[in-house]
Amino acid sequence: MRNVHSFNFRYGCDRCKVRGDVMEHRMTFRDLLAEPRLDTDFDQPINSDDEEEYRTGNCILRDVGIGMVTQFPHDYMHLVCLGVARNIANMLHTGRHNGRLTGIVTSEICEHMADCALHIPMEFQRRCRTLFESSRWKATECRQFLLYSGPVVLSNTGVSRRQYENFLYFSVAIRCLCSKALIDTYIDFVQGALQYFVDTFGEIYGRQHVGYNVHSLYHLASDARRYGVLDNFSCFEYESFLGVLKEMTHKRKPSHIVQQVCRRLSEREFLVMSSYEYQDAKLHGVPLKQHIDGPTVAGVEEYQQYREMNWNGQLIALKESDNCFMLDGEICIIRNILKSSQHSKNVTVLYEVFSIQTDYFTLPLNPGPEFVGRPLHSGDIGIWMVHSLDQNEVKQSNIAIFESVIKCVLLPTSNEGVFVAMPMLHNI
Ligand SMILES: [Zn+2]
Repeated sequence: MRNVHSFNFRYGCDRCKVRGDVMEHRMTFRDLLAEPRLDTDFDQPINSDDEEEYRTGNCILRDVGIGMVTQFPHDYMHLVCLGVARNIANMLHTGRHNGRLTGIVTSEICEHMADCALHIPMEFQRRCRTLFESSRWKATECRQFLLYSGPVVLSNTGVSRRQYENFLYFSVAIRCLCSKALIDTYIDFVQGALQYFVDTFGEIYGRQHVGYNVHSLYHLASDARRYGVLDNFSCFEYESFLGVLKEMTHKRKPSHIVQQVCRRLSEREFLVMSSYEYQDAKLHGVPLKQHIDGPTVAGVEEYQQYREMNWNGQLIALKESDNCFMLDGEICIIRNILKSSQHSKNVTVLYEVFSIQTDYFTLPLNPGPEFVGRPLHSGDIGIWMVHSLDQNEVKQSNIAIFESVIKCVLLPTSNEGVFVAMPMLHNI
């Protein structure tokens, strides 16, 4: 579309003019300080006889004022999730390089991953399979490993401290780029963290693995500065919508696909509210799934007990994988939802708070040999290690607390009864 060489060409980087080197039959881009590529580099028309290092011809998009560098941001789903995150998962247990783990360590990690999969909230489309199946992971599984389960299952195993820290910088940087609450504060940290990640990645796994995807991470922060959080310009939304599009076509009549989709879409437009939206609006703030298992509160008038409630697209429920949330910086577990028999809008929420809440990890804010300044504590970005639920004190509050609740993923660590709580970054 842009009339440029492919990404594995010697001058394949679309953000800088780095010259690639071939190592072990792979094109590598290890220099992070090469001259940047600019939109104006596309201004000069080229003839068919010209030998260009990057362009193969003229592009009409430039003539209509489109920035040929700045307006083609990297897609985080392919670059980060299916690219680098899945590659790391593969390299942890296959191949011939320094970062490969032993069979025993890999099995321990896989066991822990299977345990964590049981604690994944219902908002995730699928649970992450173990490392043994990493070559077949879908993008959502890669994202789950990178942002949630990876930092937990790789800790305190046979993974070296340096290798774990390398992964942690990658994970924390992408978490900051995905979060509207964190991106502005930590964008400079992210730039340094990704540079450090790319530098140390080659030393840990081998320089021949610093290809286009790993190199391009260095340029990802500049895209985020321009366009905001990564989901603003990622393919996740389009990929998720493919399923919806598929549902719009007649399964036994695979002809005239475009016409079928067009008709279904226009039908939706004519409806005041689609049935899906109507269902969502109906469920918002309304307790669901009545039960009689308690706990309850003495002195409260007649009420019914419920198991779950949908709030702004997030499901808060009593079951183990969906019962954790953060309220005013404290990690809580919901225990019951009570609705008054007389006043249906009078809803009380019962919850317990973890009495021990500490940082899970600490990283220098300026990665590299010259550490300066205050370190980044995991609590700064909402990640806490928690244990010891305060079961003697069940707190109660009205439904209004959900306005400030952030749903968390609560994963078990290798220590019995100790968990890591991480704020969820999306409501899929
Ligand atoms: Zn580059």
